[in-house]
Amino acid sequence: MDEHTITVKLELVVGDGSLSGRAVDADGASREFAGWLGLIAAIDSFVPPTSDDHSEEASMSTIAFPNRPAVDLRLRGEVVRPGEPRWDDSRRAYNLAVDQRPALVAIPADEDDVAAVVRYAAANGFQVAAQRTGHNAAPLGPLDETILLRTDALQGVEIDPHARRARVRSGAKWADVVPQASELGLGALHGSTPDVSIAGYALGGGVGWYARKHGLAANSVTALELVTADGELRRVDRQHEPELFWALRGGGGNFGVVTALEFDLYPVPELYAGVLFFPWERAAEAFHAWHEWTASAPEEITSSMRLLQFPPLPEIPEPVRGQSFAVFDAAFLGTRDEGEDVLRALRAAGPVMDTFAMVPPVGIAELHMDPPAPMPFISTHRLLGELPAAAIDDLVSAAGPGSGSPLGMVELRHSGGALARTGADHGAIDTLPGEYLWFAGGLAADPAMIAANEAHMALLDAVVSPYQAGFYLNFTEESGESSRFFPEETYERLQAVKGEYDPDGLFQANHQIGARRS
Ligand SMILES: Cc1cc2nc3c(=O)[nH]c(=O)nc-3n(C[C@H](O)[C@H](O)[C@H](O)COP(=O)(O)OP(=O)(O)OC[C@H]3O[C@@H](n4cnc5c(N)ncnc54)[C@H](O)[C@@H]3O)c2cc1C
Repeated sequence: MDEHTITVKLELVVGDGSLSGRAVDADGASREFAGWLGLIAAIDSFVPPTSDDHSEEASMSTIAFPNRPAVDLRLRGEVVRPGEPRWDDSRRAYNLAVDQRPALVAIPADEDDVAAVVRYAAANGFQVAAQRTGHNAAPLGPLDETILLRTDALQGVEIDPHARRARVRSGAKWADVVPQASELGLGALHGSTPDVSIAGYALGGGVGWYARKHGLAANSVTALELVTADGELRRVDRQHEPELFWALRGGGGNFGVVTALEFDLYPVPELYAGVLFFPWERAAEAFHAWHEWTASAPEEITSSMRLLQFPPLPEIPEPVRGQSFAVFDAAFLGTRDEGEDVLRALRAAGPVMDTFAMVPPVGIAELHMDPPAPMPFISTHRLLGELPAAAIDDLVSAAGPGSGSPLGMVELRHSGGALARTGADHGAIDTLPGEYLWFAGGLAADPAMIAANEAHMALLDAVVSPYQAGFYLNFTEESGESSRFFPEETYERLQAVKGEYDPDGLFQANHQIGARRS
């Protein structure tokens, strides 16, 4: 035993295949945990920083703002100020149409750094906006009194294959988990792009490829760790601060900076998945076939139907570059034979390309062909209820062949199944109303392009708005009232949690619960 040894006493409660307990250090500080991953996290919390972690050499920034006391912000990570060489890089969002100009950018190296930023912001009158990729940067609003806290350096993924559970730090993207889980025959509730952070996606709901079978990703989250407005690192789950745990799962980044998440994985050794490309001129036929098929599709299949106009860019694969199609894609949890049966009616509509095959879970990570590199874009969205065939006609006439639509993508995703099932254990986003998620978007590289896309989005919006069933937080890329995402009583409950944990409105979320700090 020397100065590098720490003593941690463990009290373990083992029952019915589950593990929980308490870890206590030599000074009597204790931490409760659940599951093997929680046990590791509890022990880890007692490991002191290494000698160079928070030493005098740790980076120190003294920042002076008019009317604010100059306070030292000491981080192991990085602080970037306006005008510094890394400024443009560090403030850039995935959506290049959004020009983020925060007071500072902080890139914490660890949880202590996150707490230091939160305390610094609270003491100096700033807000804190957590961000990883900036996929949903557009609704954040002005950031001139805000520290943009980028979670990029909070990396780490652990998978417990026996418990079928993952623990990730909040800088992890789906691309960091899906391949590892796939190797173990496990599927994660990821969505159409591997490039979003698991934290941002799951806090806002998370509609993925297994959504009709396993529901929203938020409702498979089993524990969260976060730094709240008082600068404390908390671990919340169903037993510990359950109201905060409830609010985080659907209420977004309103209650603190999440530093780690734990969530369930599902056994998926293989699945039948792929894309059917239909000729542009037969888009109406393909859309009608899909629309009729959704009425009886089993919940083992989650799918979308889109009007896709690929730009003539060199990075787009040659067979589709500069061309337009009606595109169906889907992931089916079943065998090839069962999948072929399920797809029969769609194949009868005559696709010109068919990529369906049995694949491991990693095989669907990029199935939706979402653009991997940052780009400027604008979009619009609504949740829709049942659609009459006439609405499909109107949608395809307004955005399909002969319409002159400049929009790169007009999408309907099939909802329902587990997304519509309420659960006593669910978080703030219990179910997703409606039968379809509608989303339309286009590039926003210059003012003329923006104007053309906006005009066409308004046209389509008028077509679908009579069928509106609600709005989904993650798909909403414009600012507006967050009450539109929740039933009234849920929103009131979220406001109460916000009032309890962040009474001064320290955290600035993309979709703010309650009034924004003025
Ligand atoms: C191309 C594309 C494809 C998409 N596909 C899907 C899909 O299939 N299904 C789906 O449900 N959604 C999808 N989305 C939406 C996506 O889930 C949201 O944009 C989500 O917010 C992205 O999370 P992020 O952290 O990467 O983005 P960011 O813009 O970095 O974060 C968004 C917000 O999340 C919160 N947040 C992020 N990290 C933290 C943290 N550590 N602590 C506290 N708050 C935090 C903050 O409020 C932040 O403003 C897609 C978006 C795009 C652009």
